[in-house]
Amino acid sequence: MKRTRKKIIILNILGIFFVIVSVLFLRSPIGKALLKSKSHFMVHSADSRVLYEPGAEGFADRIAAFLPTAVEEVEKGHYLSFKKPFKVYVCSTQQSHNEFIANPTSYPIRGAALKKKVFIAPSAFSFKGLDTHRESLMHELSHLHLLQRVGMLKNRRIPHWFKEGLANLVAGSGGEGISQKMAIRSIKEGRHLVLQEKGGFLKSLTKVILAAGLTGPMFHQQNKMFVNYIHRVNPEAFKRLVLAIQNGEKFSISFVKYFKMSPQEMWNRFKSEL
Ligand SMILES: [Zn+2]
Repeated sequence: MKRTRKKIIILNILGIFFVIVSVLFLRSPIGKALLKSKSHFMVHSADSRVLYEPGAEGFADRIAAFLPTAVEEVEKGHYLSFKKPFKVYVCSTQQSHNEFIANPTSYPIRGAALKKKVFIAPSAFSFKGLDTHRESLMHELSHLHLLQRVGMLKNRRIPHWFKEGLANLVAGSGGEGISQKMAIRSIKEGRHLVLQEKGGFLKSLTKVILAAGLTGPMFHQQNKMFVNYIHRVNPEAFKRLVLAIQNGEKFSISFVKYFKMSPQEMWNRFKSEL
């Protein structure tokens, strides 16, 4: 009898604990993003891959017009076609966009790639005084392409500096407001990328940028210059590396295999030539 009572008490405590955890999760940015309905999005008449929120039709027109070129450019840059179909969700406000990607800040993030979809924010059309919607779309499609090829877990293991650098190289994005001269000065003064060998499940891009003591645009300008340099050094090895990663092979091992040096040794070489 005593045992049964004890069991009931334990089950009750576990039940209350489960309810509290569930409520906290559903009220968190990730929970809210998962629950946020997309039923109000409308399908674009020119391209059914593009959907938009009421008020974002003008933005969606421009995304739909550029999407075929964007796909072509990304497939060229990744040396492979997209593996699966996807949708592009064009948001009417920054707040709505940031809620969908579970970002509680009001920072003007221009887009994001999540499973099977890309989100585009109004800021992509006006970022630091520039219309970057083409670059933003290609940048996020590069992330989505890689995600489709390797899956979420392996994608998290690829270092951020390389994923972002590849997306910036393919899209011509990144480093808005930061000239190459400014980036070189920053690198020479010791404020530069920290080359992790791999990503890490809990290491978000924001954490990596903050840990290196850089701003977002400076981080992107530097990774763009570095990945561009790696490509220039040996385009054939670069192609093999990108194909190997997309085939699920480990980044650091593949890098050494095709370039006969580690990413850090490549960075030292890049730095010495600045
Ligand atoms: Zn990115």
